Amino acid sequence: MLKKILSGEACAKCRLCCIFDRYDVWETPVFTEEIRDRIQAERPDARFISKDGGYIFRVEELKGDELFSCPALTENGCMLGDDKPFDCRIWPYRIMEVGGRRAITFASICEELYARPLSQLVDYLKDGLADKIFAYADEHPEIVKPYYEGYPVLLFERKPL
Ligand code: SF4
Repeated sequence: MLKKILSGEACAKCRLCCIFDRYDVWETPVFTEEIRDRIQAERPDARFISKDGGYIFRVEELKGDELFSCPALTENGCMLGDDKPFDCRIWPYRIMEVGGRRAITFASICEELYARPLSQLVDYLKDGLADKIFAYADEHPEIVKPYYEGYPVLLFERKPL
């Protein structure tokens, strides 16, 4: 979904968004039932909990520098291929609720996009991506996360919640 601004090669080299530490483990993706079942079939050890109609991984408390690798991550990248969850397809853009309104924020740990001018990131949203994100969130409100301090807000939705 971000192919115009984020190359597959850059993502393949990085994979930072598929590995979580205790500070960003809340960022693990939200899955539909279908994708949850697909992961479970290939990774029987993966545990899920339901979240507002979707599913997230059950992750034991991480201590110190402990990391949680997404069970869908393989040596060749994400085993879900083009069927990655929406959350992962739009990362490092995030959708959050900020003061009673939905907004699109940005995970600045994505070095590849963080290096771009802010105007480019916002223009890409205005070029249709924001509409797609808000429309998906209408159908899947479970992907909307509470605002997390430090995430720059790039764009507010025009209509209130
Ligand atoms: S589902 Fe795939 S893209 Fe998303 S965090 Fe897991 S391995 Fe990464």
